[in-house]
Amino acid sequence: MATNELLARRQRLLGKNISLFYENPVHIVRGQGVWLWDAEGCKYLDCYNNVPHVGHCHPAVVEAICKQAATLNTHTRYLHNGILDYVERLVATFEPPLSTAILTCTGSEANDIALRMAQAVTGKTGIIATDSTYHGNTSAVSQLSTRMPPIGGHLDHIRHVPAPDSLRPESGNGAGTAAGFADNTRRAIEALQQSPHGFSALILCPYFANEGFPDLPAGFLDETVLAVREAGGIVIADEVQPGFGRTGGHMWGHQRIGLTPDVVTMGKPMGNGHPVAGVVASQEIMSEFRGAFRYFNTFGGNPVSCAAAAAVLNVLEAEDLLTNAASVGAYTRAGLERLAERHPCLGDVRGHGFFFGTEVVTDRETMTPDPGRAGQIVDAMREEGVLMGKTGMHGNTLKIRPPMPFSNANADLMLETLGRILDSLE
Ligand code: PMP
Repeated sequence: MATNELLARRQRLLGKNISLFYENPVHIVRGQGVWLWDAEGCKYLDCYNNVPHVGHCHPAVVEAICKQAATLNTHTRYLHNGILDYVERLVATFEPPLSTAILTCTGSEANDIALRMAQAVTGKTGIIATDSTYHGNTSAVSQLSTRMPPIGGHLDHIRHVPAPDSLRPESGNGAGTAAGFADNTRRAIEALQQSPHGFSALILCPYFANEGFPDLPAGFLDETVLAVREAGGIVIADEVQPGFGRTGGHMWGHQRIGLTPDVVTMGKPMGNGHPVAGVVASQEIMSEFRGAFRYFNTFGGNPVSCAAAAAVLNVLEAEDLLTNAASVGAYTRAGLERLAERHPCLGDVRGHGFFFGTEVVTDRETMTPDPGRAGQIVDAMREEGVLMGKTGMHGNTLKIRPPMPFSNANADLMLETLGRILDSLE
């Protein structure tokens, strides 16, 4: 079926205004490792997708899912070792006291629970998030997003602080500096404390992934975290994007920056595409939550999900993919830096492991974001068979975030294609 027919069918059946990547959308029918194939048999190098974390259709994950689906799938109101074996392995990747988990189906649900944990622990409801974030799509967590303001405006218990912008550190009351970010947070805490809501939690992605993964110095959040704790609030780390070794070397984004969160949420890569997500917290916070809310999730933690998630951990270990993300990530980043030397539209190069990119700007003197040019680059790459994306508070950051088995040869192909496209656009 031709692309325009598929688009019309999609619109008729799914409604209008559903987001779709690329001017010329891709109709993918098959995936394997870091590769995707479209309906015409054209092959694409996947430099974007983090959900197929250990590679598209990894045979070990497919086998684990099939085997468990053929044996039993039910919910967590029966005893089953699958969830216990998995949670035991999962919490072993955290520092104490993070030792218990609730499994859900989506990152949104996980964040929704985290907000309720904060309420249970503090007895308050006020939440602080950054002004360029996304934490999910339930009614509660979509309030945290500023991209599409909720009908009726943001509820009064939500306060946004400017996201750090490492290329423009003075913007947002100095939000790109540790002291500026902490000051903004302190002001938001005080405002909440003076409101009927009080202050319960700061929620943030320790990599500021949706904000455009700014390049921040070690210890950037230390003063902020101190302010949150002094005010009796908790810190929620949303690891949906940086988790499971994405940033190379470390399993979790908060470990990379030395942050100690009270609650951690995760999702996307956890089941390699199978819908499994979760929340990790201490015994104490979990007990407060269970005391305050009756929570059950029909599909969360089912044996098939746990088999998929366990297989992902197996493959991460067996193929040493955290090390791969660190070493191939550094190799690719160095190649991007060489490209940036030749192309003044690349404002900087930043990121860690397999989550990196570059800000597309009009020029390096003003560093004015150029989201239009970023879109042209991403579309041209797609036409050349390399899939990447763009993100960030200015919509101009090229987002390169491939499946974890990405190799130096894959990086060479991506860099060579990007170089050619930048030459042709200049
Ligand atoms: N948190 C972050 C940081 C995300 O980027 C996303 C999804 N893009 C979510 C939460 C929501 O996850 P899900 O789509 O699985 O609900």
